Amino acid sequence: MQITITAKIKIKPTEDQVSQLNETMIAYRQGCNFVSRIVFESVDLKQASLHKVTYGALRTQYGLRSQMAQSVMKTVIARYKTNKSNGYEWSLVTFKRLEYDLVWNRDYSLSKEVFSLNTVEGRIKVPYESKGMEQYFESEWSFGTAKLVNKYGKWFLHIPMTKEVEDVLDYNINNVVGVDLGINFVATTYDSQDNTLFFNGRPIKHKRSKYKFLRKQLQQLGTASSRRKLKRIGQRESRWMTDVNHQISKALVDHYGSNTMFVIEDLSGVRNATERVRVKDRYVTVSWSFFEFRQMLVYKAVMSGSKVLTVDPRYTSQTCPKCGHTEKANRDKTKHVFCCKNCCYTSNDDRVGAMNLHRKGIEYIAEVTA
Ligand SMILES: [Zn+2]
Repeated sequence: MQITITAKIKIKPTEDQVSQLNETMIAYRQGCNFVSRIVFESVDLKQASLHKVTYGALRTQYGLRSQMAQSVMKTVIARYKTNKSNGYEWSLVTFKRLEYDLVWNRDYSLSKEVFSLNTVEGRIKVPYESKGMEQYFESEWSFGTAKLVNKYGKWFLHIPMTKEVEDVLDYNINNVVGVDLGINFVATTYDSQDNTLFFNGRPIKHKRSKYKFLRKQLQQLGTASSRRKLKRIGQRESRWMTDVNHQISKALVDHYGSNTMFVIEDLSGVRNATERVRVKDRYVTVSWSFFEFRQMLVYKAVMSGSKVLTVDPRYTSQTCPKCGHTEKANRDKTKHVFCCKNCCYTSNDDRVGAMNLHRKGIEYIAEVTA
């Protein structure tokens, strides 16, 4: 299978290079907005036809080099396609942020020492913080289309790195671990040795409600400064959630070691289901953080010779792991207790979720290795 992670590198341009980068990104943004207007009016997303009507102007009026003109078209087309696939109505896309998409080996290259890229004034070589990047040059990683970003006066390069890794074979799996994700415990596991681990989520729940309170207060103020603060708090919160996800996924992989199959719910299809959406407006935060968690778990599992199976989430919280009886009333959400209406089996509700995921994992293994 293929894994992709985004490497975030700090680059260190000189003063002269900073003005070159700024100039380039401004020209790039203007080019994007110019092309965007044409795409919006023509409703045509083919690069070939776009090339005919925009290439000349991108070169002469916007001063973009040939490669950059191509990247501008690609960036604009990609943005419209994303909007389309997300179900948005056709509307004009405006490029506000200063960004620059760089295609590997064409717009940029990266060696162990230096980052080299195209600007409106030609190719420049920028030193960068290479610590932690060594691994990408040693094994077979391929460099994707990078994004040049200027944040708070600092310069970064975000590069998607892709690598082909061997999947652990299903008949080499020697431990199946159901991982239930919830608010209360964040992650609850149940493994083939009948052990359950709880990753305590109460401090997380507490901190999250603190953020929620702060956000509400700032929203009510409605001033320019409160809006800025609101944005900063949002960023701080997502950085913190990312860190939590990183720690939990790492703890799971470290604890269970290689040849493990982690089983988690596929929550991508439950947008309308209410089973997991326990509280109003909580879904957004949970789903975002869930996808991030899954990505991290997949990456870390694969890197340590394990794998992740995602399964249909239906009934994982309502089914009795002992007798199979499925009923909504089996679970008392407020008390976090599962109590089977048929056989009276009783346990913590998140643990039961993990047990059911574990069972689905075992069923999968049985099927594929039969
Ligand atoms: Zn039962």
